Amino acid sequence: MNYSIDQLQTLADEAVSMGRKCSDGANADYIPFLASVPSHLCALSIVTCDGNVVHSGDADYRFAIESISKVPSLALAMEQKGAEMVRTKIGAEPTGLPFNSVLALVAHKDKPLSPLVNAGAMATVSFLDAPDKEARWQMILDFQRRIMSANVSLSDDINTSEQDTNFHNRGIAWLLYAAGNCFSDPMEACEVYTRQCSTLVTCDDLATLAGTLANNGTNPVTGEKIISPQNIAPILAEMTMEGLYDYSGDWAFLVGLPGKSGVGGGVLAVVPGQMAIAGFSPPLDEAGNSVRAQLMIRYIANKLNLNVYAPK
Ligand code: GLN
Repeated sequence: MNYSIDQLQTLADEAVSMGRKCSDGANADYIPFLASVPSHLCALSIVTCDGNVVHSGDADYRFAIESISKVPSLALAMEQKGAEMVRTKIGAEPTGLPFNSVLALVAHKDKPLSPLVNAGAMATVSFLDAPDKEARWQMILDFQRRIMSANVSLSDDINTSEQDTNFHNRGIAWLLYAAGNCFSDPMEACEVYTRQCSTLVTCDDLATLAGTLANNGTNPVTGEKIISPQNIAPILAEMTMEGLYDYSGDWAFLVGLPGKSGVGGGVLAVVPGQMAIAGFSPPLDEAGNSVRAQLMIRYIANKLNLNVYAPK
């Protein structure tokens, strides 16, 4: 590494003060709880592969993981079934459409294409080997805790808010099931998927998740081996193609790091072999990605020349 922890701290502080000046975007409001989260919150965390944690801003605030939960569940499915089974049964293509698009599904014979959109994520949850709903949920929660921290927990408020309003996702789950692309009861898959989106995490937790991917599958903070090294590249490839939904191409062009966002306001980015950067702030752009988190991560990636496509 050609940068010190002090330098990373300075960059994190600069990124947060720059992020706070931006007032673009709006909280997600299709999930009632998310509309009520204070929009001014802003945090940035960096976790290095040697286990250093640097953060700035509202780093203690716990927010909804939302779509970022699709990454640990994808990793878990690859651990259980192998990356190739996930590619053939669920897919490895960008959809080019919003994360909850029914059109993307119908246009491809109701095959999800990507495990990082809602359809593919519900298919992934249904694909896990589990005897029943509670066991399916518990294995996902345990995995989230191992890849982030033991503090990760389900928010009853967020979960209730989502379960009471997730009619669109239920429709998608039934379409998957009708086409043979849902591997459990579809309402079980939808309910467990909704729970996995409703866990509370900090910005450090997200950076630790991304840091585990950067660190070849070993959590750099706890030292626990979580993901087999051969599954890391396929996970990062899926993130490159669909991590920021229909903005993933622009993100690859502008930042050049595998990333993942959630409508709770979190975004994470992986610098393979080096570090991970995570940002949090609730206001989102049109695609559902946090405006400030993108700006902050892009700032640090540019300063440190982290773009994986840029020859070093
Ligand atoms: N729980 C949300 C949903 O299914 C997650 C979406 C997201 O973060 N993009 O709609």
